[in-house]
Amino acid sequence: MDLLEYQGKQLFARHEIPVPSGIPARTVDEAMAAAEQIGYPCVVKAQVKIGGRGKAGGVKVAANATEAREYSEAILGMDIKGFTVYELWIEEASEIEAEYYAAIVFDRSARAPLVMLSTQGGMDIEQVSEETPEAIATLHVDPLLGFQPFEARRLAFEAGIDADLIRPIGDFLTRLYATFIAEEAMLVEVNPVIITPDRKVKALDSKITLDDNALFRHTENAALRDPSDEDPQEQMARDYGLAYVKLDGDIGIFGNGAGLVMSTLDVVTIFGGEPANFLDAGGGAKPEAITRAVEVICSNENVTAVLFNIFGGITRCDDVATGLIEAFATNPPSVPFVVRLDGTNDVEGRRILAEADLPGVYTASTMNEAAEKVVALAKGESL
Ligand code: GDP
Ligand code: MN
Repeated sequence: MDLLEYQGKQLFARHEIPVPSGIPARTVDEAMAAAEQIGYPCVVKAQVKIGGRGKAGGVKVAANATEAREYSEAILGMDIKGFTVYELWIEEASEIEAEYYAAIVFDRSARAPLVMLSTQGGMDIEQVSEETPEAIATLHVDPLLGFQPFEARRLAFEAGIDADLIRPIGDFLTRLYATFIAEEAMLVEVNPVIITPDRKVKALDSKITLDDNALFRHTENAALRDPSDEDPQEQMARDYGLAYVKLDGDIGIFGNGAGLVMSTLDVVTIFGGEPANFLDAGGGAKPEAITRAVEVICSNENVTAVLFNIFGGITRCDDVATGLIEAFATNPPSVPFVVRLDGTNDVEGRRILAEADLPGVYTASTMNEAAEKVVALAKGESL
């Protein structure tokens, strides 16, 4: 789950990371009340879960009430890279002497968090990493030992930070790491970290991605979830406890085991189809889970055909067949299904399906055959 900038800053504040103070606002009136309380100059900032707001005109420093009103009116409702601005963050303006970049991400290949620091903040960090990668100092943290203060200071030194700021930046990074661990984040990024004329360090922006799978341990963070910006199918799948990811295509996919589902997506693509989703029913899928999965897959209106690819291990193919028949009885689908059953009790499963003789349900015995059939059906061809 991604947080809005101000939600991230509130989280930083709880971990004693210095941030400018501010007030969220959903209307121009609220924004004006916030601006009056904060005083001028203040910054009017669009709250959308996408970067580059500054360049898009979504971050403006207001010198007085007239400007604060003008900017709030302009930014509320603005479209930034496809994201509509519903909320503003009105913040006390900061004086900026330097803009740095700091981030902590998981480096999966190293199996460790990676801390990054650069004096080239404020701008496009992707561009910095492409053109002058040496301008970003990096360090892997041993997750068992944690991030040691001397490591933070060394990183600051390697990044070329002024001598008087090595300690303050080191402290800043230490707190950032503590936040990353305590909140079970996947990413914390601050661009820019600013240095004020009186040499104070502050987080002027925040980008935080929290681990959805750990949210149950963080009720305060979980409450920040905004159901309106979630995909309806993904929301439904989460309520049902299904592992589902929406994709752009038109072929619904159901399989058991993440590996099998991933290869099903590949095979469908090789045969010229476009998967509409990833859905892993897991091991031991019971009829109820299948009924729910069919409901989730078919509620995506882009879906024109569905591929059921089951390799029975723990999951029994006869259970899957029974589940499909139940699902179709309660909610007859309007699109054709191709079902491939292989593995535990496959003969029995195929027999149950054949006996039910469901309209619009086709069987296949290999993955390739199933993919070929479902791609043809999705294109409106008849078999
Ligand atoms: P982003 O464009 O979405 O990354 O939004 P940021 O919050 O990073 O703001 C973009 C830029 O606006 C920053 O890099 C600053 O240069 C500028 N900015 C933001 N807040 C202030 C402020 O309080 N004072 C000044 N002078 N500039 C600011
Ligand atoms: Mn930024």
